[in-house]
Amino acid sequence: MRNPYHRRESRVGFPVLNPLNLVDPNGKEIYVLIDGEAVLANEENLKGTDYYEAYQGLMATESGKEVWDKYASNDKKDIYIGLSEIVPNGRALNAPGLDAFSLGVGEDGKLGDLPYEGFEIFSVVDLSQSGDKEIALVSMNATDFSKKSENRKFLNSEGLFHEIKSHIDLDGGTGRDEHVRYGVPLGIGALNWGSSSVDANSPAGKFASELIESNVFNISEYLKNSILKALKN
Ligand SMILES: [Zn+2]
Repeated sequence: MRNPYHRRESRVGFPVLNPLNLVDPNGKEIYVLIDGEAVLANEENLKGTDYYEAYQGLMATESGKEVWDKYASNDKKDIYIGLSEIVPNGRALNAPGLDAFSLGVGEDGKLGDLPYEGFEIFSVVDLSQSGDKEIALVSMNATDFSKKSENRKFLNSEGLFHEIKSHIDLDGGTGRDEHVRYGVPLGIGALNWGSSSVDANSPAGKFASELIESNVFNISEYLKNSILKALKN
């Protein structure tokens, strides 16, 4: 039988085959659902999908990149992100892990009874792949993510940041508590900028101004001014 380690001795710099690395080849621990399968949420897999622009917005900002990188290299928690036709707004759920499963995960590792409408999309995923890690599920609106206007891309990106930052990273207490910490106490997200007031130093405020400054999306003057006005109030 061929010795898999043989080449390592004969070639300088050939990587050691580590079984742990084979399970999780890139050290990435954020997954997206694509065609009913959970794939690593990296640049290569995301390109050309409806997730891509929201991800681009996160990568273009300091706050977005910080929170993404934190969970993309987290050895205690896996995040699964999917697009749902059913639920109008984004939703995130932190689960304590497969053991304590209020989620109703069966022997096959798949979700049974679902805690919220919209999380049906995750029933195809074998969550047991996450072992004894904590799991967070994030569903975003499929219709919104399929729209490619610059304003929509901006808002989708903010929506994705909101779910991860507010409900996973700042997890604790009620949803309202999380929104207070995030900077949108009324739970309006950033979708109604025109009628909002958002603390410029809150995570919501920082992300929005960083995303405007990045110029990654060429948003309308109207949206830009609404956001800047909300941040000033
Ligand atoms: Zn929220």
